[in-house]
Amino acid sequence: MDEGHGAGSERDRRHDRRHVYIGGRWVESASARVVEVYDSVTEEVMGCAPEGHPTDVDHAVEAARAAFDEWAATPVGERAALMAKAADGLAARADELTTLITRETGMPVEGCRVVQVGGAVHFVRVAAEVAVDFAYEERIKHSLVVREPVGVVGAIAPWNFPLNQMVKKVAYAMAAGCTVVAKPSEVAPLDAYVLTEVLDEIGLPPGVFNLVPGIGPTVGQAMSAHPDVDMVSLTGSTASGTKVMQSAATTIKRVGLELGGKSANILLDDLSDDAFRDAVSQGVQRAFMNGGQICAALTRMLVPQSRLDLAEEVLSAVVGDMRVGDPFDPATVVGPLASAAHRDRVVGMIRAGLEDGAALLVGGPDRPEGVDRGYYVRPTVFTRVDNSMRIAQEEIFGPVLCLIPYRDDADAVRIANDSQYGLSGGVWSADVARAELVARRIRTGAVYVNGAATNVYAPFGGYKRSGIGREYGRFGFEEYLQIKSLHLPS
Ligand code: NAD
Repeated sequence: MDEGHGAGSERDRRHDRRHVYIGGRWVESASARVVEVYDSVTEEVMGCAPEGHPTDVDHAVEAARAAFDEWAATPVGERAALMAKAADGLAARADELTTLITRETGMPVEGCRVVQVGGAVHFVRVAAEVAVDFAYEERIKHSLVVREPVGVVGAIAPWNFPLNQMVKKVAYAMAAGCTVVAKPSEVAPLDAYVLTEVLDEIGLPPGVFNLVPGIGPTVGQAMSAHPDVDMVSLTGSTASGTKVMQSAATTIKRVGLELGGKSANILLDDLSDDAFRDAVSQGVQRAFMNGGQICAALTRMLVPQSRLDLAEEVLSAVVGDMRVGDPFDPATVVGPLASAAHRDRVVGMIRAGLEDGAALLVGGPDRPEGVDRGYYVRPTVFTRVDNSMRIAQEEIFGPVLCLIPYRDDADAVRIANDSQYGLSGGVWSADVARAELVARRIRTGAVYVNGAATNVYAPFGGYKRSGIGREYGRFGFEEYLQIKSLHLPS
């Protein structure tokens, strides 16, 4: 139910959302307060959503619990068919979602259409497919091992890919037979209302999906601590992951955590000059897509000492030429960041790099030229970075790249692994077998060899403080299943 009455186009429409969705109905939140949502381009309020309240969580969990037995017993084919309808429903609203998410996050509109919205639709379809194809039973001697849905799942999403990070959880959970209480990020909660409207329209049984927006320390905390929530799945910062684990510990619930990263992209010494230039350019795309607001962004570029000058030359040209501006302009490569607070944090990290003595190659802490409003940050590259510096150790989550020289393969692997995070990585080589050997030595949940595409059927997740558990495909689906042994008389 959208109470926004803004005149004009989708581009400047207001979205005022004042209800939560519980048990198949839009109801008043127990909190009278709302959180305002800012347009990343105009810095104006573009709408609001309820601040949410732990009482809303209680009601939503009650509804999810009541719906669970019947939903878990519904044949998987029927659940999958509903997910396919949900995918169609999202696809039908792609234009509206693209505009909304571009405003919420600042991601340039065409990328937003493909990755944020198209990606979300695809994730829902894949979840349905994986659920149907899954082998739920296995015979082990005289026992039958069966998989059953975990129960009520709390799904907590971040703002950088608000819709596709949310559906990655809820579509898989629902396809597995779980019921869900979902909490979008308070920075970008509006697209979750479109998702909820779609789920409401496809005939999902009441209580299978519930939406309680709100802030982390109240609503998110209440979900994580709730005794009737069986699993909580968070995508967010490592700090929030720690809090969720602590709250979940008292009831020994399962946690799935997809957290931050500081991933290394290693360019090996056997690349030709042309291949090296290409790898540097492609590395920039993988660092600065969505303004660097990507958990798996390859934000540390590791190059042989002997190639440092060439890397600097390419980066100066490629990043110096990047078009920063209105994300609705198709020529824009880097849009604004999602919020003022986040912009300030990223600028603070650029200043930290300067204070720590890193050499600035391109960009810097000043507002980019030609933009007088919007949460913009200059695409920035630091060179000759020491991996112990804050800019090389801490997740910045903005358009900031560290160029780090290394001596040999062992040194490159050492630097890549000298991180509290372990989410992603890249290796480039003229010899794929050699790249694969280096990739195996990197302690992260994924490594991309020679710029290979991602694969949403293969598992995604982190080592170390980048998380616990996996999303995507069969491995991600299993996270929403319990395992039971039926010991049968022989
Ligand atoms: P965030 O941690 O601030 O918020 C994420 C979500 O957690 C929000 O919904 C927030 O309200 C909630 N939250 C905050 N405190 C909580 C608490 N105490 N209890 C329960 N919930 C709480 O993260 P963000 O700023 O929205 O997103 C950026 C972060 O997300 C980055 O660190 C990024 O790397 C990470 N991320 C990871 C992945 C991945 O798949 N690994 C994907 C996208 C983003």
